[in-house]
Amino acid sequence: MANRILILSADAAETAMLHQVLGAAREQPFDLETIASLSSGITRVGQGQIDAIILDLTLPDCMGHANFSRMYACTPEIPILVMCPWEQEELAISCVHSGAQGYLLKGHFSSYLLAQGLRSVIARKELEAVFYKEKARAEIALNSIGDAVICTDLQGNIDYLNVAAEKLTLWSREQANGHPFSEVFNIINADTRNAERNTVELVLQQKQTIGLPPDTILIKRDGSEASIEDSAAPINDLSGRQTGVVVVFHDVSAAQIMSKKMAFLAQHDFLTNLPNRLMLNDRIEQAITMAKRNQTQLAILFLDLDNFKHINDSLGHAIGDKLLQSVSKRLAACVRDSDTVSRQGGDEFVILLAESESEINTAIIANKILQLLACPHYLLECELHITTSIGVSVYPLDGEDAETMIKSADIAMYHAKEHGRNNFQFFRSDMNTRAIERQKIEAHLRVALEKQEFVLHYQPQVNLKTGKVTGAEALIRWMHGDMGMVMPARFISIAEDSGLIVPIGRWVLREACLQAQRWNLQGFAPVSISVNISAVEFRQKNFLQGVQNILQETGLNASQLELEITESVLMRDAQASIAILQELKEMGVRLAVDDFGTGYSSLSYLEQFPLDVLKIDQSFVQDIPANGSNRIIISAVIGMGNSLQLRVIAEGIENQVQLNFLQAQQCHEGQGFFLSRPLTVEQFGRMLLRKNHALLAL
Ligand code: C2E
Ligand code: MG
Ligand code: MG
Repeated sequence: MANRILILSADAAETAMLHQVLGAAREQPFDLETIASLSSGITRVGQGQIDAIILDLTLPDCMGHANFSRMYACTPEIPILVMCPWEQEELAISCVHSGAQGYLLKGHFSSYLLAQGLRSVIARKELEAVFYKEKARAEIALNSIGDAVICTDLQGNIDYLNVAAEKLTLWSREQANGHPFSEVFNIINADTRNAERNTVELVLQQKQTIGLPPDTILIKRDGSEASIEDSAAPINDLSGRQTGVVVVFHDVSAAQIMSKKMAFLAQHDFLTNLPNRLMLNDRIEQAITMAKRNQTQLAILFLDLDNFKHINDSLGHAIGDKLLQSVSKRLAACVRDSDTVSRQGGDEFVILLAESESEINTAIIANKILQLLACPHYLLECELHITTSIGVSVYPLDGEDAETMIKSADIAMYHAKEHGRNNFQFFRSDMNTRAIERQKIEAHLRVALEKQEFVLHYQPQVNLKTGKVTGAEALIRWMHGDMGMVMPARFISIAEDSGLIVPIGRWVLREACLQAQRWNLQGFAPVSISVNISAVEFRQKNFLQGVQNILQETGLNASQLELEITESVLMRDAQASIAILQELKEMGVRLAVDDFGTGYSSLSYLEQFPLDVLKIDQSFVQDIPANGSNRIIISAVIGMGNSLQLRVIAEGIENQVQLNFLQAQQCHEGQGFFLSRPLTVEQFGRMLLRKNHALLAL
């Protein structure tokens, strides 16, 4: 397309000349428009499509430099050639200084040169526009990216900072311009705090892109610091000559804090901030290496809180979490800085005593832990009591690596649980056999319900005055193909630990109620059935609902059902126990305290529990007649039962002497091998028949 040239001139001769010269241009002719006044010229330019202007500096409505400045102000993007008589060349030159692209002296321009000149002026202006656009785009881009950018010249003096660099260094572009790079970009090593080498100098020397050294800190203008990372590169011109350096960097402080936090979280327990399993393993391996080198010992303590699950279930997780935090603080207070207290998850903690000089020392620490943890914890206005069981393994006796050491301590911890909890046990190699046995039992137990391997035996409870059978205690037996009849002592605690006791307990309760109903339907006088309830079941959220459902399902009258709960379970959280017992009472179920005398009942609580029966633990009965103090305890319990209007049942009567003593003390009821062993359903049924409502010979 032809370029359109606007000739602004009232000089007819010159205009004609221009038309002649430009009209004759061979390659690409011009479209020419002529206007004789500045004001009309400005209007025309405003309408667009003018590629260049030839502006006569003498116009009817304006003269001299003003002519140019007014037109230039309207259209700085259109190239302007000014035109004047040769005597006014000075004036033309001043216009060029103000932005005109060139000038023509009237009568002194030749056809070829003018056409070429005009074309190159137009082309140059177009290029300028493109450059301007590119530059503006680059500027916007540089200022909107998050990375800071600083450019320097070959002397290492700053000639550019983008907005991010201004923000990060706290130097404005004006302040930094011309300053040596190292003044604005003051960097040190995070660890040594020594100055790092000047990045720009390095690039100037090596003439290649380089990365900043790791862990670099930038000292800002106000002295504050930021961790930064990134790179610097040479800037080259078209011919490949280096003209400066560009440094690109960004603030990684937040990312570093985050990554430190992540690293901490990966090695610590979120609830207690104690080292976790991962870090503990590391520490144990380190400690083992040291112990090997120095021929010393180290010890691992494996702790499991006793009955923590009940606290969590009954008082809620918020309290449970607080208790775990309180426990971890106390544990940390029991050991030295060189030791490691870690949380394995749940209510399990593992402590590494890195320099345990002797087993006596370890025992002292274990004792200290038992005592300190047993002191009441005051949390969210609750007073909580918790104990713990501890297993101890010693390097190199009980394992040569972290995994074995922890496993041995874990096994020893189970023994501490079996020893009545709240104690510690050193690992012994024969414990391994027991641990394997436990695992085997647990595995078989998982399928026992499905395979219908459980049965109930019934032990008669007898009125000691009349010899009449008053009821029966349902006792579970596990008929296992290989192991034969397995007694509850061997599997109940395993069922409790694995949670299997819940479905098993539900089966026992349903089966006992069904059996009582069967005897009812066979026409026997109603036999009261006692069912043992384990701690885990008793604290289950839906325990009450379960009892209710089973009574409904089986149709058994609630008054025919007695639930036995051991004294220690009731006392563990007496307030919560009262609430549960009361609900059971409202259902019409009768309640017995099992193994009474072993659990340190407080009399004040005993009065508040809505109980019906006290069962004197068999250990007291079996010591008769040898143990005098037990005899006193038995008569005290009977007296207490009388005053609280409770029935008292003595358990474990094995001989005539014991029976005589209990009868003399006017103990109401008894249970024991001497009266009757636990019987199968058939045996019990036959007894009911034979004895015609069961009168045992006393
Ligand atoms: P427990 O509730 O105190 O039950 C009495 C235990 O003493 C029974 O043992 C019974 O066989 C035994 N026994 C009765 N008379 C005598 C005697 O004269 N001498 C001796 N030495 N022992 C006598 P068993 O059946 O082995 O049960 C042991 C414990 O297992 C029970 O103690 C109870 O705590 C628990 N248990 C039994 N069945 C169940 C059950 O279905 N559910 C739950 N959760 N626990 C059960
Ligand atoms: Mg019992
Ligand atoms: Mg008992």
